[in-house]
Amino acid sequence: MSRFISPSTAALKPYTPGEQPRVTQYIKLNTNESPYPPSPRVREAIDALAYEDLRLYPDPDVTGLRDAIAAARGISQERVFVGGGSDEILGYAFMAFFERGDTVVFPDVTYGFYPVHAQVCGLEVRTLPLRGDFSLEPSDYYGAPGHIVLANPNAPTGIALPPARLEDILRANPDRLIIVDEAYTDFSPQNTARPLLDLYDNLLITRTFSKAYGLAGMRIGCALGEPGLISALNCVKYAFNPYNLDRVSIAVGTAAVSDTDYLQRTVDMILATRDWFVPELEAMGFSVLPSAANFVFVRHATLKGAYIYDKLRENGILVRIFAYPERISDHLRVSIGTDGDMRRVTDILKSIVK
Ligand SMILES: *Cc1c(COP(=O)(O)O)cnc(C)c1O
Repeated sequence: MSRFISPSTAALKPYTPGEQPRVTQYIKLNTNESPYPPSPRVREAIDALAYEDLRLYPDPDVTGLRDAIAAARGISQERVFVGGGSDEILGYAFMAFFERGDTVVFPDVTYGFYPVHAQVCGLEVRTLPLRGDFSLEPSDYYGAPGHIVLANPNAPTGIALPPARLEDILRANPDRLIIVDEAYTDFSPQNTARPLLDLYDNLLITRTFSKAYGLAGMRIGCALGEPGLISALNCVKYAFNPYNLDRVSIAVGTAAVSDTDYLQRTVDMILATRDWFVPELEAMGFSVLPSAANFVFVRHATLKGAYIYDKLRENGILVRIFAYPERISDHLRVSIGTDGDMRRVTDILKSIVK
């Protein structure tokens, strides 16, 4: 450790991303990437990029991509912010809206990045436990002791909160900002908080191109909210990294968001795979939480999660296991791959549990 590291950085517990193996022989089901490539329009957009233009800075306002997202979501462009993945946007949001010493509230089982952003910003964290079945009880959040961050569908559980229940939380906290992380909403569009944007000024939605759009290898995300919230995000962005999206990302994101048919087709394929995979798991003695996303969160009736994890890994299959919190340490999160991937996983699991 350098003697120049600041005490607060030395104390920081950073986020641990899922393993990204350097060899490709794994069936990779540990970070919820799409098993399908992005839209063919993305390839066309990359081919059409003028290589000489890379000497020029990109558009700092990212107007083209923001327009495309606004058109796809049926909202005006001043309600759209784009960033280098939703992780970056969540970081900007924590900086823009929360002051050192403020309290931020989220469930005990949720996306592991929220406590990290909270620590970076010097916030107090209040975690509210999900119920025994990992469902979220909205009334736990009424009159919350701070601003609220919710992933919906939640990760790593995959469980979605219906928008009417989310609305109850918004209504019960008019003076709190509610950040809804919709990384997986493309897999259950009926659960999006998008219609509530027109009614509540305390709602900020974040989205990503990393999951359903098959673009985790680019870094593209967006936030939707009332124009005042978007200007605050821009204030942080222009204080930090004005050109936060490069020319390639802008072109690729714009092409991807325009191809709604392709998005629908790939999402439908993933959901169809999930639909046959879940009963296979249940037949093998796994309990499977009801998933509204492109992954399932499972626990075996008798075998330890770590044992199954190791056996899968020996057989070239990577899934995700979480040490914390304790209550999920025996669960595994398995991303949904192609039919072929999941047939292979099913066969291996059968040999492990037999
Ligand atoms: C994957 C994921 C993200 C991160 O998305 P990026 O846009 O790739 O940064 C954010 N939130 C949740 C809940 C996720 O699962």
